[in-house]
Amino acid sequence: MTAVAIELDVRDLVGQPGASRAVRVAEHVPGLATPLATVPEERPVGAELLLESVVEGVLVSGPIEGVMTMHCARCLKPFETQFHLPVQELFAFGASPDDDEYPLVEGFLDLEPMIRDAVVLAMPFSPLCREDCLGLCARCGGDRNLGECACEPESDPRWSVLRDLDLDLDLDLPDGPGSPG
Ligand SMILES: [Zn+2]
Ligand SMILES: [Zn+2]
Repeated sequence: MTAVAIELDVRDLVGQPGASRAVRVAEHVPGLATPLATVPEERPVGAELLLESVVEGVLVSGPIEGVMTMHCARCLKPFETQFHLPVQELFAFGASPDDDEYPLVEGFLDLEPMIRDAVVLAMPFSPLCREDCLGLCARCGGDRNLGECACEPESDPRWSVLRDLDLDLDLDLPDGPGSPG
């Protein structure tokens, strides 16, 4: 998978502070993925951007939109969600890869790194298919949302009663000097 450049010719804006124009892009961006989330390659990422010429370069702002597919961190079920990410980034003359700004080279800028950074940062670390997903049973592996698990609940009140009894016996034995019986 090779990175694609989403190059924009902004030579008309360079050196014209105050000038601006809108641009709309829809591009396939391969390799947008984390372990549990991905933007499918066949689904384009769209952006409606305002390009504003400023003294330092070109300011790019607007929403980045698309669809990401995720796997629920609890039950592993795949699901899709729309994303809508507002961005505002400066493409500056002479910016290097270590700078906060993106580079603007000879009147051209590449939107791909900005889109990649915004989308990957927005990918949830533990996506959930729904807020109250019950997940998979750790013992039988059944999907508890679907009632596939018939295991006893983890904390059975009957066991805690027995534990309390044991505790009482342990405390009584060393304290009493002789056996009452
Ligand atoms: Zn789930
Ligand atoms: Zn179970």
